Amino acid sequence: MDLVSLRPEGLYCAAGDFFIDPWRAVDRAVITHAHADHARGGHRHVLASQDSEAVLRVRLGASLPFQGLAYGDRIDHHGVRISLHPAGHVLGSAQVRLEHAGQVWVASGDYFASGHDESNPTCPAFEPVRCHCFITESTFGLPLYRWAPQAEVLAQIGDWWRDNAATGHASVLLAYSFGKAQRLLAGLDADIGPMLVHGSVAAINEAYLASGVDLPETALLDSSTDPRAVARALVVTPPNTLASPWARALGPHRVAFASGWMQLRQARRRQGMDRGFALSDHADWPGLQRAIGATGAQRVIVTHGEEAVMVRWLRAQGLRAETFRTPFGDGEVGEAGD
Ligand SMILES: [Zn+2]
Ligand SMILES: [Zn+2]
Repeated sequence: MDLVSLRPEGLYCAAGDFFIDPWRAVDRAVITHAHADHARGGHRHVLASQDSEAVLRVRLGASLPFQGLAYGDRIDHHGVRISLHPAGHVLGSAQVRLEHAGQVWVASGDYFASGHDESNPTCPAFEPVRCHCFITESTFGLPLYRWAPQAEVLAQIGDWWRDNAATGHASVLLAYSFGKAQRLLAGLDADIGPMLVHGSVAAINEAYLASGVDLPETALLDSSTDPRAVARALVVTPPNTLASPWARALGPHRVAFASGWMQLRQARRRQGMDRGFALSDHADWPGLQRAIGATGAQRVIVTHGEEAVMVRWLRAQGLRAETFRTPFGDGEVGEAGD
């Protein structure tokens, strides 16, 4: 029998009677990370990585019934051995390893891997876990998605910020508040100018700092901020905040979006950005291939994004491949991370 199957509530482990990242409220949920398309409220019991606790409580409420598990530690539930392993996506992100009756399955959640030897500096790197069946995300599972080395992209963003500051423009950098914002702050040169953040970014920064991740000093941007303080600044804020009063009160400024979707020229044009920087917290096409190969899995279930091309490619490699269709996938706008 399959260790994990698809139910209306989400991915279900029948042997252990629990769900992984369910999108409806359930009794027992294992949550891979705190992005909104994985972490829903209302569950009666939540198991997740220790490192994800602070952000999950920011997102789902302080009274969340939470059980934390350190990466690599194991618990047994109804005879199913459960352990969590770094996914390299955001703070606390985990792959879920399940072992039962000699079968090992791994559900990846979202993960970061690329064709370059690099990892997300704000969380432990993706760790390949050997398994019989690997349930992989495929947000950017098309051959056209190939990330440039992140140091290169961060240098381009730094140049953009420096040029804007030289002409008295603020640099408004749109980024999801959980994950992308912290990765940008950690990776950019704080000597270029002051760094200001939106309140939703500041709240998540706190959780990163509490977990021991190094972030530069930032100031909160709101309606009380002195406009003169913004002139040379980098402003890191989620895409949906551009209509806020403080944003309309900004002096001269330029706007860019940091997202994997920015690899597509149409996406940049549609968003009406001055610039787009393709920096993603997800695996690109070579990263997906490399990560899947490293699991040694003979069976792969593709979910969460571009599935058809990936399934075809996996079958051409002689693997058994299929999809789980979930209500969430590519192109989602909001606090899903990208
Ligand atoms: Zn995510
Ligand atoms: Zn996701």
